Amino acid sequence: MDAEQLRENAHKMVDFIADYYKSIENFPVLSQVQPGYLHNLIPDSAPHHPESLQNVLDGYIDIQEKILPGVTHWQSPNYFAYYPSNSSVAGFLGEMLSAGLNIVGFSWITSPAATELEMIVLDWLAKLLKLPEDFLSSGQGGGVIQGTASEAVLVVLLAARDKALKRVGKNSLEKLVVYASDQTHSALQKACQIGGIHPQNFRVLKTDSSTNYSLSPDSLAEAISRDLTIGLIPFFLCATVGTTSSTAVDPLLALGNIAKSNGMWFHVDAAYAGSACICPEYRQYIDGVEEADSFNMNAHKWFLTNFDCSALWVKDRNTLIQSLSTNPEFLKNKASQANMVVDYKDWQIPLGRRFRSLKLWMVLRLYGLENLQGYIRNHIQLAKHFEGLVAQDLRFEVVTPRIFSLVCFRLLPPHNDEDHGNKLNHKLLDDINSTGKIFISHTVLSGKYILRFAVGAPLTEWRHVNAAWEVMQDKASALLARLSIE
Ligand SMILES: *Cc1c(COP(=O)(O)O)cnc(C)c1O
Repeated sequence: MDAEQLRENAHKMVDFIADYYKSIENFPVLSQVQPGYLHNLIPDSAPHHPESLQNVLDGYIDIQEKILPGVTHWQSPNYFAYYPSNSSVAGFLGEMLSAGLNIVGFSWITSPAATELEMIVLDWLAKLLKLPEDFLSSGQGGGVIQGTASEAVLVVLLAARDKALKRVGKNSLEKLVVYASDQTHSALQKACQIGGIHPQNFRVLKTDSSTNYSLSPDSLAEAISRDLTIGLIPFFLCATVGTTSSTAVDPLLALGNIAKSNGMWFHVDAAYAGSACICPEYRQYIDGVEEADSFNMNAHKWFLTNFDCSALWVKDRNTLIQSLSTNPEFLKNKASQANMVVDYKDWQIPLGRRFRSLKLWMVLRLYGLENLQGYIRNHIQLAKHFEGLVAQDLRFEVVTPRIFSLVCFRLLPPHNDEDHGNKLNHKLLDDINSTGKIFISHTVLSGKYILRFAVGAPLTEWRHVNAAWEVMQDKASALLARLSIE
């Protein structure tokens, strides 16, 4: 690690990245390469002798010609697929600093600043979200940065499992039951698989358009009482605020009350929509979070923090620690032994961890609440505008009411269409994405194939939304014209 070499080359790299952002609209948003494309472009084995830095950096021939064609440009203003994965100057600088210091902060002693800044910054964010005080680090709870929402739900499921087993006996694992709606992210299923939950004890409760795909408290109560009668043990409920398919919002208060009266752990997954709740007018969507044992939102989705940064709060940190802590000799130290500090290794799956709070700290300080709120509101306005455009074109329909910055819509099928427009919309999606001009994704709700338009890339402006709609209209017209000829 030669400091002068770093200075010289890192400046070049920053220039390259800045130029990338300047020209980002010139690339096809969705990479158009075929599977295995890179195999023929890159040697079979690593070089024996060092290549000159000049060779790799000057002109970035390899990066320009070999890597970028295989990149899907998540930061493009014309990216509207899945959910956004934000970057920002502040997030980038924090990421850079974190890479520069390159510490491994598993225990407090391995870099006290890493642990303490994480605690403070997650307290800051909890206060912006008006989370209940029990989630703050000053009491029994606290926040921790996980890599992803998937890891967040896994660690709380393990904590909840072990807490329940302590109560009912270790032999009862196969009686433990998990509840969630059919709109819950597949990360929960994975967590159940890893956590040893019996596959038949994962209750996926049906939702439909009558509740806009939110979980009905009645159906939860019924499922729980059925399970109790046959001697099973309900122990975990996962509710979602802003589901991945359509941003459905589960009613936290009613669900939380049911979970509580059954002694269950209540986890709230707000991976995408949590960010919006820093605005007073959207905070209502997490009303009832007071009942939750844990709450998660991805700062790396829609909160200007470069991937990865998933914020998880728990009310009782000891439950996590009891499940996940180990204390080998080689990690023993005075501060940990005296229980004076938080050792985040006991709140997560891996031992090693990065100094990720720097990114979030930079974002919160360089933008401030006001700008962050403006940022969220602007995207929601853009989505609302898009929703209006779709509603005006009678060939299309908006499928579920828009709540945040996602619009679910589809092209209406001709009356005699056999599969109710599913193939039609699938074809439309492919036609749109293969232009490379924009990238959108899809979902299926009640058997209907639906297009998803998720606003949230930091560079997206009104003109991009309008242009995207034009691409969609053009492709729809062409598709319908072809159909009428056939
Ligand atoms: C994106 C998302 C997830 C998964 O996020 P990862 O951080 O990639 O694991 C889970 N739940 C919801 C509601 C999401 O939107």
